[in-house]
Amino acid sequence: MEEGLQKKPCTKCLLKDIDPAQYEARIKKLIDLMDKSEKADDKVYDKRLQICSRCSYLKDAFCGACGCYVELRCVKKNAACPYDHW
Ligand code: SF4
Repeated sequence: MEEGLQKKPCTKCLLKDIDPAQYEARIKKLIDLMDKSEKADDKVYDKRLQICSRCSYLKDAFCGACGCYVELRCVKKNAACPYDHW
């Protein structure tokens, strides 16, 4: 496993200080590392992302309501939107 990939991405970094490609790769890697039993199925995940992508709380990949990376929140089987949008 690559060094640092077990840690959550830093939520205190400014976007200007983050390499977008590296950021995206880390999020994808974290999702890949999750146990399949913890993940929502692909259809549920895609539907959640569609809803988040139209939500006014979405800002730069974060949910402004809960502070989560939306891709990470949406992929967790037992997660829920803090405003019951999904
Ligand atoms: S989790 Fe809910 S509140 Fe947050 S961006 Fe998605 S739909 Fe909006």
